[in-house]
Amino acid sequence: MADALGFSSAVIVAGGSGRRMGRPKQLLPLGGKPVLVHTIEAFKQVPFVRQIVVVTPPENQGILKKYFSDLVFALPGETRLESVKNGVACVDKKAVLIAVHDGARPLVSAQKITDCLHAAKTYGAAVLAVPVKDTVKTGADGFVTRTLDRSSLWAAQTPQTYQRDILERALAQFGSEKEATDESQLVEKTGVKVRLVPSDYKNNKITTPEDLVCAEAWVGASTVYRTGLGFDLHRLEPGRKLVIGGVEIPHAKGFLGHSDGDVVLHAICDAILGALCAGEIGILFPPTDPSIKGICSVDIAKKVLAVMREHGAALDHIDATLITEEPKIKPHYEAVRRSLARVFEMPLERVSFKAKSHEKVGEIGRGEAAMCQAVATLKIRQ
Ligand code: MG
Repeated sequence: MADALGFSSAVIVAGGSGRRMGRPKQLLPLGGKPVLVHTIEAFKQVPFVRQIVVVTPPENQGILKKYFSDLVFALPGETRLESVKNGVACVDKKAVLIAVHDGARPLVSAQKITDCLHAAKTYGAAVLAVPVKDTVKTGADGFVTRTLDRSSLWAAQTPQTYQRDILERALAQFGSEKEATDESQLVEKTGVKVRLVPSDYKNNKITTPEDLVCAEAWVGASTVYRTGLGFDLHRLEPGRKLVIGGVEIPHAKGFLGHSDGDVVLHAICDAILGALCAGEIGILFPPTDPSIKGICSVDIAKKVLAVMREHGAALDHIDATLITEEPKIKPHYEAVRRSLARVFEMPLERVSFKAKSHEKVGEIGRGEAAMCQAVATLKIRQ
């Protein structure tokens, strides 16, 4: 399916100064994270979009790097069109389709992005748009001069999607026109007919404080909580390091495993993947792969966090119970909690860790193995 459209790149323009909102609107908090992070997450959910170029000042780039590791950055120009040109110049040579999007439209759906890309593949150029709801009049000197025929009016949104050569030609020919408010106007001037793709009114551009209130309501209404369950068990063998939740604990025995055998991190990672319905860590890191022998489980956790973010999800809470006979874990509770909070990039107060003995029953009771059970609760955007 990912080949149906071919390699597509997104150029997200987020260079505005936020004159109407007092500060850059792309960075205003929405549902607990910056507006622009929501926007990027929407494109991350489209498998055809293989590259995301964000046109934004250096100070914003630092904030985005905390959320995403694979963005390409370009610097904004004096006008929106110059910013688009700077972004398009960074598009991968393999890209056949380019989607240009406003950073301040965080509620675009993956389905609408996909619809618009399909239309560009068929027609060369396409824009998301909604029928105008209000009656639109032109005016001069405080009086109506004309009432426009509403049935033919569409309000253009983004993304606006193009076959690469069509967009590049339009930017080269007409890209110096200062008054153009979108690049579709330039493509129209080249004679290419731009396809209108029906969108929804949710995909609004955050421009005024009222827009942000509406966006908060949409984010709240479209966020669901899901819980996943994780379990792991490893043998304890003499002479191995004992690593629990990323903390090395002095003990005569440690976990036997392909990795460092950190049962707590493994169980939490499986709980996260469970909440996403995205398999388990044995699929992401097959024990048969010699290149990952001895891998640090923190690296496994980082990969799982990347998968989680690609699903547009965020961790809300984790709770893990280690079941082991020895050593005594209680003295290490706080060190393990702090480590888990660091590894999973969460506030300490949403991370729970505890341990139980197995009352000397069975293999765990004899100190031959230890196991962990964990739950992870995620906020997922629908
Ligand atoms: Mg394991």
